[in-house]
Amino acid sequence: MECPDCGCRMKIERTYLEIEGDDSPSLETKVYSVQELCCRNPKCIRYGRMVQQVRHRIDRQEEVSG
Ligand SMILES: [Zn+2]
Repeated sequence: MECPDCGCRMKIERTYLEIEGDDSPSLETKVYSVQELCCRNPKCIRYGRMVQQVRHRIDRQEEVSG
């Protein structure tokens, strides 16, 4: 994935798991792997900031829409 400002390939700054619904038995528990992408170009205004967050649901095979 490229930075929308400078077009450089972004790096993954951090990856973590996000869990929804695990505190309520009436809700379906959903597990996401979240990646935060940062621009690696020091001349870019977005350098060092989180540019984009990518979420993939990992408790199922299907992709997250939206
Ligand atoms: Zn950039």
